Amino acid sequence: MTDQTKTRITTNLEGQTAIVTGAARGLGRLIAQSLAACGAGVACVDVNAELLEETVGSIKSVGGQARAFTCDVTDSQAVNDTVDQVVKAHDGLQILVNNAGITRDGMLMRMKDDQWDSVLAINLRGTFLFTRAVAKPMIKGRQGRIVNIASISGMIGNPGQANYSASKAGVIGLTRTVAMELASRSITVNAVAPGFIETDMTAKLDPEIIDGIKQRTPLGRLGQPLDVADAVLFLASPAAAFITGQVLVVDGGLIA
Ligand code: NAP
Repeated sequence: MTDQTKTRITTNLEGQTAIVTGAARGLGRLIAQSLAACGAGVACVDVNAELLEETVGSIKSVGGQARAFTCDVTDSQAVNDTVDQVVKAHDGLQILVNNAGITRDGMLMRMKDDQWDSVLAINLRGTFLFTRAVAKPMIKGRQGRIVNIASISGMIGNPGQANYSASKAGVIGLTRTVAMELASRSITVNAVAPGFIETDMTAKLDPEIIDGIKQRTPLGRLGQPLDVADAVLFLASPAAAFITGQVLVVDGGLIA
C-alpha cells in the first residue's frame, strides 16, 4: 500500500484488525504504520492523544485504515472498553501488539516506590490487561496473534533497571504461559526482545554508554525501529503460524 514504513516484510493482512499500544511515537508508531501498510485496520492506543492523532493521520494519508483510542493501559475498565469498541466496529480482532512501555531507571538502593510501581504497572499490568481483554474475541474468532514487546534487559538484567528488567522478565513469563493456554484456539503468543534501538527511550542515554553498546554489539550499531517492527510483522503474519511461546531477540547479537 505504501513505502512510508519501508517495511521489508511482505504479507497480506487485508481484512484483519490489530490493536497496537503505545502507538503515539517510537516503535509503536512504526509497528502501527507497518501493520496498516500490509492492509490491517489498526486501532492505535496511547495516553498521548495529540501524537496519537499524528500516527493515525500518517496512516490515513497514505490510504491505510487507523483509528485513535486514548487509553491508559493500566486502567482495566478503559482497556476493556477499548477492546469492546474495536471488536464491535470491526466485527472481531486478530492481532494485538503490547508495546506501551516506560523506563524509570535508578540503582536499587535509591529506587523509589513510585519508580517501581509505575514501570511494573505500564509494562507488565498493561500487557496482562490487554491480553486478557482480547482473549475472548480471539477465542471466538478461533484466530489470533499476540506480540509482546519485551527487552533483553528482562533476559540478562541491566544495572539501574531492576524495575524495568523485572517487568520485562514478567512479560516473557506471561507470554510463555498464555501461549500454552491459548494454543488450542489457534492463537499464538510471542515476544520480541529488542536490544538498544534508536528511539526517544535510548536518546536519554549518555553518548559514552551508546558508544560502549555499539562496541559490544557484534553487528556494530544500534538497532533501528524498523528492525523491531519487521520482527513484529513477521510474528503477526500467517508465516509465523507454527511459532508460539517464543522470544525473538532483535539486538544485533549483543547477548548471543
Ligand atoms: P517510547 O518512544 O517512549 O514510546 C512509548 C509510548 O508508550 C509513548 O507514546 C508513551 O506515551 C506510551 N505510553 C506510556 N505510558 C502509557 C500508558 N500508561 N498507556 C498507554 N500508552 C502509554 O518507547 P519506545 O522506545 O518506542 O519503546 C516501545 C517499547 O519497546 C517499550 O515497551 C519498550 O520497553 C520496548 N523496548 C524499547 C527499546 C529501545 O531501545 N527503544 C529496547 C527494548 C525494549 P507518552 O508519550 O505519553 O510517554
